[in-house]
Amino acid sequence: PRMERVRLSSLIEEVRTLVASGLIRRSQLDIHLLTEDDWVQADPTQMQQVLVNLLMNASDAMQGEGTIHLTLDAFDLQAGAPIANQPETAGLPAGRYVCLRVRDEGPGIPPEHLHRVFDPFFTTKKVGRGTGLGLSVVHGIMSRHGGEIGVASPPGEGACMTLYLPAAEEAR
Ligand code: ADP
Ligand code: MG
Repeated sequence: PRMERVRLSSLIEEVRTLVASGLIRRSQLDIHLLTEDDWVQADPTQMQQVLVNLLMNASDAMQGEGTIHLTLDAFDLQAGAPIANQPETAGLPAGRYVCLRVRDEGPGIPPEHLHRVFDPFFTTKKVGRGTGLGLSVVHGIMSRHGGEIGVASPPGEGACMTLYLPAAEEAR
């Protein structure tokens, strides 16, 4: 990977352009930037691939009709203290993280599928519509960045994917 210091918000901004070009059909994007402390070390192309995969899955789940909510935040992870209800944070070293949540308004993911969505070739889409490789690629990219991805699907809500990337030093 070609690692650079980039702001996650600027990658979101670039992906927004793809969205405008019709990639995710009629879905709306609702973006909440809760921090300006969003510098990470990342391969911008790979990170765009991550975002595009998540947006396309969200859009597929809603059949294009609805809003995808993106929330960017940052937090300090203490050693041995994973975030409540986010077991994926248990595997991360202590430190500062930039965190991006991608939540949709689709039907969500049934509990029996939650632990399989990152498996290569796991798909519930019709033949020709999905390869089942998107989230396994996303998972691999996040691992190679020292990050993590978690999935949640609270009853009665859409799917929620959460990305964690180690924060980089502030630019100066
Ligand atoms: P594909 O999109 O080709 O099916 P992915 O690896 O991207 O493969 O996703 C695997 C599966 O995870 C999907 O087929 C679907 O069952 C489930 N999934 C992923 N994202 C969502 C979502 N936002 N809402 C509901 N189900 C999802
Ligand atoms: Mg996909």
